[in-house]
Amino acid sequence: MPWRRRARQFLDKAVNFFLPSVCVSCGRVGDVFCESCQKSLTWFLDPLCPTCGRPLSHTAGRCASCRLDALPLQEIRAVCAFGGAARDAIHALKFEGMFAVAEPMALLMSERFPTWSQPCDFIIPIPLHPERLRERGYNQAGLLVRHLCQRIAANYDEESLWRTRHTRPQVGLDRVQRRQNVQGAFAVDRQRVAGQHVLLVDDVCTSGATLAAAAEALLEHGAASVRGFCFARPVG
Ligand SMILES: [Zn+2]
Ligand SMILES: [Zn+2]
Repeated sequence: MPWRRRARQFLDKAVNFFLPSVCVSCGRVGDVFCESCQKSLTWFLDPLCPTCGRPLSHTAGRCASCRLDALPLQEIRAVCAFGGAARDAIHALKFEGMFAVAEPMALLMSERFPTWSQPCDFIIPIPLHPERLRERGYNQAGLLVRHLCQRIAANYDEESLWRTRHTRPQVGLDRVQRRQNVQGAFAVDRQRVAGQHVLLVDDVCTSGATLAAAAEALLEHGAASVRGFCFARPVG
């Protein structure tokens, strides 16, 4: 991590220690992600596509996108729609060093933890490339998973999946480019995942390309099934 950023993070931590928290979305003094901003989130409610979890206009069967292009994941679910306070929370967590917001986000994930068609043996956060991890100082998905697993008493594993390749951010890429960007970017410890039902967690899921690339690597190395759970997902 460059020294300027390191110094900045240290100062932020020191200042945060002495100052009361302000909400990452509305800026009100009190909680790091206040109750009224949490209430403003748009939850994903039934009917949802049983595979990708997108809202459906009809009540039965999979969505058009899943019928066309099958995902390697059994199921994907997200807590809320990306936008407004959800976008602010993710932005603060990823780009402003506000790691404290991971805890209330994970609490929401625990309260809305889906009922899966198959219980998962353990949870794996989508890993960052070591270079990005050094820049950011933490893996935001790893923080979400640690807080989530404390809440729901589940196991997590941050060592069985890692990135072998530095990929450019997915923002601004179309569906096909997103797939190409992350294809083959993950490596897996076969001994840890073989025969296991795995749940992947990420902060945000757009096309599902990152989850799909990670799932493909896990399945190739013997995972029994892979599901995905994110904090937020764009609708439409
Ligand atoms: Zn707020
Ligand atoms: Zn679908």
